Amino acid sequence: MICDEYAKLLREAELDFEENKKFIMILKRLRAKTLDREINVLHDRAFAEIDCLKCGNCCRTVPAIIQQKDIKALAKRFHCRPIVWEKEFTVRDEDEDLVMNQTPCPFIADDNYCMYYEDKPKYCRDYPYTDSTRLRNYLRETMENTKVCPAVYLIVKWLKEGINNRTIF
Ligand code: SF4
Ligand code: SF4
Repeated sequence: MICDEYAKLLREAELDFEENKKFIMILKRLRAKTLDREINVLHDRAFAEIDCLKCGNCCRTVPAIIQQKDIKALAKRFHCRPIVWEKEFTVRDEDEDLVMNQTPCPFIADDNYCMYYEDKPKYCRDYPYTDSTRLRNYLRETMENTKVCPAVYLIVKWLKEGINNRTIF
C-alpha cells in the first residue's frame, strides 16, 4: 500500500495536472540533450528521496508491457511453457501491446515487493523512464506518470521551479 506522504504527492499531482500539461510546450522548446540531462539529474534526486517499497503504485495501477523475453523468464519460474504463461497472464491492449491482464499486478506483495523481482519484465525495471534519453518524445507520458509515480511528480515540480528561478537551463 502507498504511504500517506506519497499519496499526498499524488493528490497534488492531480491538482497540478492541467498546469503540467501546459508545461510540455515550454519543455519542447529546449534542446533534447539538455532536457535529458536535467531530467536524469532530477531522477537521481527524486529516487534518493522516494522509496519504491513505500509506494508500489505503478504495480497497482499500470498494466506492465510484457515482451517475449519476459514471458520466457517468468514461464521458467512458473515451470510452464511460455504459451501457457502468456495465455494465463497477458492480454493485448488498444495499442496492440501485450500487457499484464490484471491490475493490481498479481505479483505485487502486500509489502510492495515484486514476488518475481529477479525476473521482472523490462518495462517494470525501466519505469518511470526518467533516467533514459530522448525524453522530449515522451513528455505527454511523463506528465501522465506524475499522477501515478510520486517521484515523477517531484521531478516535474523541480523542473518547473528550476526553469522559473532560472537555476537550470
Ligand atoms: S511484475 Fe513485479 S514489478 Fe512488474 S508490475 Fe508486477 S509486481 Fe510490479
Ligand atoms: S516507480 Fe514510482 S510509482 Fe513505481 S513504486 Fe517507485 S515511486 Fe512508486
